[in-house]
Amino acid sequence: MKNQRIQIEIKGLVQGIGFRPYIYQLAKELNLTGWVKNNSSGVLIEAQGEKINELLKNLSHNPPKLSHIEFINTVNINKKAKEKKFVILKSDVGNISTKISPDIGICDHCLYELFDPNSRFYHYPFINCTHCGPRFSITQNLPYDRSQTSMDDFKLCETCQKEYNDPDNRRYHAQAISCSSCGPCLSMPLEEIVSLLAEGKILAVKGMTGYQLICDAHNEKTVLELRRRKNRLAKPFAVMVLDLNHASFFAESNPLANNLLSDWTRPIVLLPKKENILNPIIAPKLNKLGIMLPSTALHYLILDGVLKYQKKISALIVTSANLSGEPLVSEDESAEEKLKDSADHIISYNRKIIMRSDDSVLHIINKKPCFIRRARGFAPNSIRLPYSIPSTLALGAYLKNTFCITRGQEAFISQHLGDLKTASSIDFFHDTLDYYLNYLNTKPERIACDLHPDFYNSHFAERFSKKHTIPIIKVQHHHAHIAAVAAEYAINEPSIGLALDGYGYGNDGSAWGGELFLYQNNGCERLAHLQPLPQPGNDKATKQTWRMAVSMLYQLGYTPNALKHFNNKTEINLVFNLLQKNKNISKTSSCGRLFDAASALLDVCLESQYEGQAAMELESLVTEIQVLKNSWVIENDTLNLLPLFKYLLNCNTAIGSNIFHGSLAAALADWANHYAKKLNTKIILISGGCFLNKILTESFIEFSTKLGLEVYYPQALPPNDGSISFGQAWLAGNRERI
Ligand code: ZN
Ligand code: ZN
Ligand code: FE
Repeated sequence: MKNQRIQIEIKGLVQGIGFRPYIYQLAKELNLTGWVKNNSSGVLIEAQGEKINELLKNLSHNPPKLSHIEFINTVNINKKAKEKKFVILKSDVGNISTKISPDIGICDHCLYELFDPNSRFYHYPFINCTHCGPRFSITQNLPYDRSQTSMDDFKLCETCQKEYNDPDNRRYHAQAISCSSCGPCLSMPLEEIVSLLAEGKILAVKGMTGYQLICDAHNEKTVLELRRRKNRLAKPFAVMVLDLNHASFFAESNPLANNLLSDWTRPIVLLPKKENILNPIIAPKLNKLGIMLPSTALHYLILDGVLKYQKKISALIVTSANLSGEPLVSEDESAEEKLKDSADHIISYNRKIIMRSDDSVLHIINKKPCFIRRARGFAPNSIRLPYSIPSTLALGAYLKNTFCITRGQEAFISQHLGDLKTASSIDFFHDTLDYYLNYLNTKPERIACDLHPDFYNSHFAERFSKKHTIPIIKVQHHHAHIAAVAAEYAINEPSIGLALDGYGYGNDGSAWGGELFLYQNNGCERLAHLQPLPQPGNDKATKQTWRMAVSMLYQLGYTPNALKHFNNKTEINLVFNLLQKNKNISKTSSCGRLFDAASALLDVCLESQYEGQAAMELESLVTEIQVLKNSWVIENDTLNLLPLFKYLLNCNTAIGSNIFHGSLAAALADWANHYAKKLNTKIILISGGCFLNKILTESFIEFSTKLGLEVYYPQALPPNDGSISFGQAWLAGNRERI
């Protein structure tokens, strides 16, 4: 083989994940000389020797586990005569266009050392290496060097410095390296944390990406107290367990679920709950349980401690430390003030969190992982667009907000930011937006926002557009839902888009949420919608689901007496009167409201305490879906489901939930097929919060596939409003005349 020298330029997620040590080790094994360094666009290598091809082969077939190479370019250059070694050079600082790695769950090596009494990292809660540990949450800017992270406050001790400098060590250039003598430390001894938890106390513990409330999941009194303090009376909690064995003790697992649980992203995974193991107050009236494995050494130490203390398989509730509706708390200065009412004790450590993130939540649809919430472990990774568009900033939805910034062919979607309803949520939105705009070093040429005239983000978009003199493009909510799927799968040809959710401001100003579109030429045309229903009391009906049941009754021509299980007769009669007089009524084509109506009619949930409760409880009751023939009518431009509801009126809960899910899925597939045939396409794009319903989604896909349709559903982002910003960006970036 010929001795040659090449320069390799690599772009993608290649910094902060042990890429340079990997190249270094490989070069040494292959007897190559030269150097590797981080630069502003990724990693640059010059390598010389006879086995250059081996190096390239390894790079393409066997790159470091956490890396993501998007671009690689190789050129032959002149050989250097006197070079003896392969070295790692200092990073260049300059025009930054590379990426920050998401935070990475503890790796197996570090986990081993954590519990090895002979390791100098034994029981050290902040152990990490080039393959694991905090990244996004501690990084101020690129390039990823210790001086740009909140580890800059800690001077390395001699031993850590030695490991940091040693190219043969796993912690070579591990920017967050530290040990018990030189790194961050906990504000309370571990033994004390463990005994407080065992005593039933609720602790606020500073995690890697924000403060969390932690307590014993087996202590009913404590869990009820946590619910009271968080003002979270019914919404399910997720639990953390030590390992996969323990996870399978509480929930039905399978190989895919186990892979997800132990993945370095360490998400919460929603799995079928095993009956009678955990107290039902953890996830009341639901047949699923959110479960996760520890993501950091600190969490492992706490769980291991609790386990040894209690001498039984234990689960801890781990939930973000905030009042409902507020964002995650991350600053030590304000933690005391903000958490004193919810936590018995606050446990902190002296490293700053620069970027906060909630836990990510996934579930499994058709044997594939799908997001419910995309945050820690995934942000700030980008999603690849089908092609480059002008740099676009899209400000997302009002609820479950994320924003999206595009740069060339990449779309950076922020972590889940929550509902933009409170001052502190808006602060979180701005802190995160400033951070991304700064580190991505890109100037948006367009700004996109929702069509709704009164959302905070719509107002801000106007101001941003004026300040930077860039055009503003307003995108209808459900157009954005569908475009997000089209962009994810690079679909250009005409297709049918089916958006099902709770609420989106329609082109005509009314409430949309069950929409069928023709998607073509990067735009949506409304073909049909669910038959609009009166929503008595407007917004009140989203919480008081019984109102939608009354509305359904009225539509069917019944009197309130048909609702035998309703106790609030006076209120029902009042609402019925409103319907008769058509007073204080808006109309909605929302699919979410249909779920509310069905759930209330079947006596499952008459009043929702959290978003989606009525639908989730109804879904939990399904044993086997059933399709009721002739229970829907496809009319001119609407899908009419009144016959189905008429039947539900005389159904018991068990049969009703089976029939509702089966018939709705079959009706929707029939409806989509009707238009697909008419428009000569087979492609169906589905999105919207209702597709978080696993049974609805899987049965819709099954029925549609049987009809010869090809269904695409969101995987890179959640189907709920977390993906709106991505869809807005794609439509706005493609707009020709603006
Ligand atoms: Zn590690
Ligand atoms: Zn040290
Ligand atoms: Fe939506």
